[in-house]
Amino acid sequence: MNVADSEVVAAILSKAGFKVTPDIAEAGLILINTCSIRENAEQRIWSRLRSIKHLKKQRKDLKIGLIGCMAERLKEKVLETDQLVDLVVGPDAYRELPGLVTEAESGHKAVNVLLSREETYADISPVRMDKNGITSFVSIMRGCNNMCAYCVVPYVRGAERSRDPESILSEISILFDSGYREVTLLGQNVDSYNREIDGRETGFPELLEKAAQISPLMRIRFSTSHPKDLSDELLKTISRYNNICKHIHLPAQSGSTRILKLMNREYTREWYMDRIAAIRSIIPDCAVSTDMITGFCTETEDEHKASLSLMEWAGFDFAYMFKYSERPGTRAARKLKDNITDDIKTARLNEMISLQNRLSLKSKKSDIGRIFEVLVEGPSKRSDDHLSGRTSQNKVVVFPGKEKKIGDYVMVKIERCTSATLIGNVI
Ligand code: SAM
Ligand code: SF4
Repeated sequence: MNVADSEVVAAILSKAGFKVTPDIAEAGLILINTCSIRENAEQRIWSRLRSIKHLKKQRKDLKIGLIGCMAERLKEKVLETDQLVDLVVGPDAYRELPGLVTEAESGHKAVNVLLSREETYADISPVRMDKNGITSFVSIMRGCNNMCAYCVVPYVRGAERSRDPESILSEISILFDSGYREVTLLGQNVDSYNREIDGRETGFPELLEKAAQISPLMRIRFSTSHPKDLSDELLKTISRYNNICKHIHLPAQSGSTRILKLMNREYTREWYMDRIAAIRSIIPDCAVSTDMITGFCTETEDEHKASLSLMEWAGFDFAYMFKYSERPGTRAARKLKDNITDDIKTARLNEMISLQNRLSLKSKKSDIGRIFEVLVEGPSKRSDDHLSGRTSQNKVVVFPGKEKKIGDYVMVKIERCTSATLIGNVI
């Protein structure tokens, strides 16, 4: 999401005459796009700021800005405690950047962290900063209304708003005409996408269907689905189109109904299992990945085991796993005690990671001998004689081949695997 936002920022500043440079020493303006989701994401930003301090000594007119969620969360505090930062701009104020840079250039500290109920940057054509020219992100909504107890997103990115569907579809068409072959539609809860224009509502299944109809050669992915809102209608839409990728990222967060209630996730373990069963029956070849949190407030050893047993039952193909990190101002920080020690959180996380490694390997092994359609994204990282791409199920495949195939679809027979990669040959 931050990559997509940085592309919007680059577009706004390009229009005002700025250019992106790959050489940090050449930059007259450095903007650091930040994340507040966990404390270590913020720690990384403080160390990034320290690592660019010397540039300001070398170049007196250099301006440094902190943008995104951390700017929103820490506001003036950043300016007070860090002399290095000249601009602080929240995620809904990027249109004001050119004016704010001018203000900073005149020697004032420039701040705009106002959140909006309408801003979706719908009319802005992002300047693509990805490297392969084949896969891209398209933001379809901003903010979140869910208020999960642990999560800072609703506070730093504001209320949920859906972008005009026509602007989304036109952005995808332009990407297709420029050679892109895959887009990932982005939102914190894509299943609740809903935009009413002239009395007519468009929901996520309809948006997804229209996106898929742009071209059968354009793959459509999306992230993130919320288990409470994942409908059978959406699953049926996915199953009808070959180019809607057969992969759903469905964060469970916990396998314990008591912890899910404390997290305010609005579903139970049984509801989550029912949604997985629905995916398996409507889209039999669908990969499923998840997010899990270990050591949330008051989590017992048995509740941790319930998370592990849910993962084992679901057989996730992939998972992002995190230690609970208390975020100031959230409901959990205000109402619950962060009473699980770091040692226990770490031990539970390690146990979960080793389980997921086993599940990921099992999922890859079951693909050996099968043939997959792979969209070629570029040379493989390890060898110039190999190409790398992904299956519809979002699994990375490496195979011998030359660069001219980038952007093509090829059929690859899987010969072997590691826990992260499938290895095969074009047939
Ligand atoms: N909107 C998505 C959802 O509901 O699943 C994702 C939101 S968040 C950007 C990505 C993941 O970060 C979450 O799914 C959750 O697992 C994790 N996360 C969020 N807040 C956290 C916290 N305070 N501590 C640890 N992990 C957290
Ligand atoms: Fe955060 Fe929950 Fe919204 Fe996801 S759905 S962004 S976890 S509040």
